[in-house]
Amino acid sequence: MLLSVIVPCYNEEDNVALFYNEAMHSLEEIIDEVEFVFINDGSKDNTLEELKKIYKTAMVNIKIIDFSRNFGKEAALLAGFENAVGDYVAIIDADLQQNPKYICQMLKILNENSEYDCVAAYQDVRKEGKILSFFKDCFYKLINKMTEVEIVRSASDFRLLKRKVVNAILSLPEKCRFSKGIFSWVGFNTYYMPYTVEERANGTSKWSFWKLFAYAIDGIVAFSTVPLVVASIIGIILFIISILLLLIIVVKTLIWGDPVAGFPTLASLLLLTAGIQLLCIGVLGQYLAKNYTESKERPMYIVKDFYSSKEKQK
Ligand code: UDP
Ligand code: MG
Repeated sequence: MLLSVIVPCYNEEDNVALFYNEAMHSLEEIIDEVEFVFINDGSKDNTLEELKKIYKTAMVNIKIIDFSRNFGKEAALLAGFENAVGDYVAIIDADLQQNPKYICQMLKILNENSEYDCVAAYQDVRKEGKILSFFKDCFYKLINKMTEVEIVRSASDFRLLKRKVVNAILSLPEKCRFSKGIFSWVGFNTYYMPYTVEERANGTSKWSFWKLFAYAIDGIVAFSTVPLVVASIIGIILFIISILLLLIIVVKTLIWGDPVAGFPTLASLLLLTAGIQLLCIGVLGQYLAKNYTESKERPMYIVKDFYSSKEKQK
């Protein structure tokens, strides 16, 4: 058995060594069968130097994939999957919010319950603000109404996957990747394991509210075409209303000879319809933009350097 541990790192200079020591300690019993795949996602600090220090002294297999710039966590995860060779593949953050000790528990679950192919950790107690939590709730309700697959609210990217699940994930060629959706889309039996999220060891989270918002939109566009249907339905409803209004006006003018009045009504109706039109064009634009990105077929990331213990030994 070989276990690959994928660790995306972006500006984690103070955390990678801590993480590595903690992981070595937690995985002590199976350490001969572990490889670490660190992705340096264009860090602007000394993360790469810290990773190289680990690489130079490590007794276990280490791979470092050094990106040419910051391509985002999704790209880092994909690079990890593409370079991991393990029969089991774990994804874990470098900031120690997710304690590596849980990987052993996950392995145990998969070994003891052969019906499961994947373990996803979820936070038993959420440590986030009420407002953010509210928006996240709304997002999951919305996306689950719109998509055919269920995306579980609290399930994180902290996962252990069997090789066949990794292969399934790699078989999806899309460039606009939304991992949470992809994990659900590929199917397989997932065991949801509670875990307690810890405070970040050092540094700050890279996710601001607006980044999360953009990520949420990406997720919806990547996994559902319902917004397009809604745009069409709004169009149809407005069309019917305008026909009715027109009829009423014509009849009123013919029978009672009412002059056409109500400039303010007209102005506000005009604004309303223009607004809705722009909204619908915006929705359409989102899909078009995604299509455009996909059609360019650019790679999701560029590797500047690749370090592997195996190559070091040669
Ligand atoms: N990360 C990354 N690229 C990015 C942003 C984040 O590789 O562009 C990594 C980061 O180093 C960490 C993990 O993804 O290991 C989760 O990031 P973060 O802790 O900022 O997210 P949060 O825990 O707040 O969701
Ligand atoms: Mg974190």
